Amino acid sequence: LSERLQNAIGKLRKKGKVSEADVREMMREVRLALLEADVNFTVVKDFVKKVRDRAVGAEVLDSLSPAQQVIKIVNDELTKTMGEAAAPLNKAPHIPTIIMMVGLQGAGKTTTAGKLANYLMKTQKARPLMIAADVYRPAAVDQLKTIGQQLDVPVFDMGTDHDPVDIVKQGMVQADLQKNDYVIIDTAGRLQIDDKLMTELANIENEVHPTEILLTVDAMTGQAATEVAEGFNKRLNITGVVLTKLDGDTRGGAALSIREVTGKPIKFTGQGEKLDQLDVFYPDRMANRILGMGDMLSLIEKAQTDYDEKQAQEMADKIKENSFDFNDFLDQMDQIQNMGPIDEIMKMIPGMANNPAMKNMNIQPKDLDHIKAIVYSMTPQERENPDLLNASRKRRLAGGSGRPVQEVNRVIKQFDTSKKMMQQMSKGNMSGMEQMLGN
Ligand code: GDP
Ligand code: MG
Repeated sequence: LSERLQNAIGKLRKKGKVSEADVREMMREVRLALLEADVNFTVVKDFVKKVRDRAVGAEVLDSLSPAQQVIKIVNDELTKTMGEAAAPLNKAPHIPTIIMMVGLQGAGKTTTAGKLANYLMKTQKARPLMIAADVYRPAAVDQLKTIGQQLDVPVFDMGTDHDPVDIVKQGMVQADLQKNDYVIIDTAGRLQIDDKLMTELANIENEVHPTEILLTVDAMTGQAATEVAEGFNKRLNITGVVLTKLDGDTRGGAALSIREVTGKPIKFTGQGEKLDQLDVFYPDRMANRILGMGDMLSLIEKAQTDYDEKQAQEMADKIKENSFDFNDFLDQMDQIQNMGPIDEIMKMIPGMANNPAMKNMNIQPKDLDHIKAIVYSMTPQERENPDLLNASRKRRLAGGSGRPVQEVNRVIKQFDTSKKMMQQMSKGNMSGMEQMLGN
């Protein structure tokens, strides 16, 4: 797939200017890439048309080649279509905020209910209550209770002999008594959308008017995800989507389709079976994944080597001058992630090139994503002046990045430490970069 894209880009790069025909050819490849990523056919058609209209006649920025300009437009549109920025969870004006999980059987509702409880406790010190309203399989109630025990979160259940609406009503009474600030309702699913299921869910909705109705969709279901999303969205006031099982090898085209057909934001992604494997959804990263943007970016990177070298030198200078701030930190993360020349930067620091510590650097892409999410949540002022980061700002960063506040503290501390270490490094000892990354 991305090989094909690269070939197409290769062709474009040899020419000085993008003609209409070039754009058309490029878009043919993009179209195939999207289809291979399991984006819905109609969505692909619309998207390609939109991008083609924008790309033809677009001015090529000085710093980019025509091919890069096209890539940038494709990437920008893809990101924009999926919602630009991460969409936070809504909060009710008074407690409890009610989150209702809906979706087909096996989509990951029960697991995600637990993940959300965990996330809310970590990020907001929340005291959630979970309600077991899937009465069709005894195992479903037990599954939620087990998750509750693991997390130390109370689970309200009435077994499987009651009407789900009654169970939810009773559960709400308990939440009021115990002053739970969040209620997470786990509901039943079917293998297919059917009317009885929809009516039951609509009844629950009408009874408690949830703050959030989160449609849980298995990303691995590809094309089918679109119909499922459409079906649920017609009958319920869906407020957001959780795309699960993105740890699998799907490219995640469902994200684009679902967003297009429902217009509802994807709020979280499931990245595994464990209860902490929930991530805030970032449209820009998803765009990369769907298009195989990593390869394209490294291509752009190659064309920019000269520029990068200059940047690396500037970074090294900044470190020496001690004016390194979170913006530089972020730049550095980007460079690392784009196969960037982190060791090149290090080598520019006198005494580092032959330092044995250089050989032992172990950088996990996931760590970098988390660190970036935290830094992205900072205001420009905070990035330039990390001293502004008091306790309440740190809590906001935790909320914004979907990372625990402890981790925010750790990143800031690592940043401080690494800044000091880098100072020393520039005088010839130690690897502060490792400390910065928490390894
Ligand atoms: P429900 O029927 O919608 O409640 O789905 P469950 O929560 O019971 O999940 C169905 C299966 O999918 C279980 O085996 C989960 O462990 C698994 N699962 C849920 N979310 C994820 C995820 O993000 N990644 C992976 N790999 N498995 C998941
Ligand atoms: Mg379930």
